[in-house]
Amino acid sequence: MDLLNTLVDKGLRRELPTRDEALAVLATSDDELLDVVAAAGKVRRQWFGRRVKLNYLVNLKSGLCPEDCSYCSQRLGSKAEILKYTWLKPDQASEAAAAGLAGGAKRVCLVASGRGPTDRDVDRVSDTIKAIKDQNEGVEVCACLGLLSDGQAERLRTAGADAYNHNLNTSESTYGDITTTHTYADRVDTVEKAHAAGLSACSGLIAGMGESDEDLVDVVYALRELDPDSVPVNFLIPFEGTPLAKEWNLTPQRCLRILAMVRFVCPDVEVRIAGGREVHLRTMQPLALHLANSIFLGDYLTSEGQAGKADLDMIADAGFEVEGTDEVTLPEHRGSGACGSAGVCGSGDSEASPEARTDLVAVRRRGAGTDLAPNA
Ligand code: SF4
Repeated sequence: MDLLNTLVDKGLRRELPTRDEALAVLATSDDELLDVVAAAGKVRRQWFGRRVKLNYLVNLKSGLCPEDCSYCSQRLGSKAEILKYTWLKPDQASEAAAAGLAGGAKRVCLVASGRGPTDRDVDRVSDTIKAIKDQNEGVEVCACLGLLSDGQAERLRTAGADAYNHNLNTSESTYGDITTTHTYADRVDTVEKAHAAGLSACSGLIAGMGESDEDLVDVVYALRELDPDSVPVNFLIPFEGTPLAKEWNLTPQRCLRILAMVRFVCPDVEVRIAGGREVHLRTMQPLALHLANSIFLGDYLTSEGQAGKADLDMIADAGFEVEGTDEVTLPEHRGSGACGSAGVCGSGDSEASPEARTDLVAVRRRGAGTDLAPNA
């Protein structure tokens, strides 16, 4: 297929595909799907070999957010019966992080609900970063605390944070349909602040919110422009009690096409399969490892993932290996970074309407904020 040969050549040269080429990936048929995966897999292997980086989420503060992001179970007015708690203490967060690190994670992602941190919150998170780093040599810490004010990124960097996550989530033109309490420009500004402070920027998207193929391509091109070191690709978990509860738009095939498109547009960037992996890729998860070089181990912020042991088994069975703390994630040409290492469904000719798989959505009831052992 000429399209795929062209995309592989461009990916190996780190050359930007045209928008039409990116759209064409999303429009490939099911008959072409394995060819698409094989082509994007060549690009993935060129820059990341067969390594899979494991990341571990710790929700420092859960629920009760004043913002109205419609996809989020922690939003204002959410009826989702998630865990709700305020800031974990540094030792509680460190204990949760330790479980993920023992399970093979090399990055801990410290997340807090809310519009953005106060300066006091930055102090709390700084103490937490110190507690985690004191006990775990070589660990990467990423903070995800919402919109940053001037100077906060620098303070987090000084406290030892390696990276900062803030997702664009969807295209600029549809952003206002998803969230009204802040803007797309606010989000871009925070990613730029993280970059400017010397933090490794992490910014990604959520697919499956009713967006078009053009929207998906728009947000991925916008991400390429921002040039984050890592791009998490979330597949919407349609939580009961949120406005998007009925948006079951994704099939495993669609998810694979989206990941392939992201890999072609961002060939040398850490592409991470994030929330919704188990819910939407289901038994196709191992194929997705040929596209993404990074996943979350265990549970997500407010939903449960498959057992950490199942993640590790899947990686081994599919012929991949867990990236060690002594290995550099990013290709050399991207520099060491701050880490010291670094539409709706229906494209394709045979996609049936996706089935709602509410049976696969389990609210997180263990780990951070509970007395139960974390999943790692
Ligand atoms: S995504 Fe973040 S800012 Fe938006 S509602 Fe959820 S916790 Fe709040």
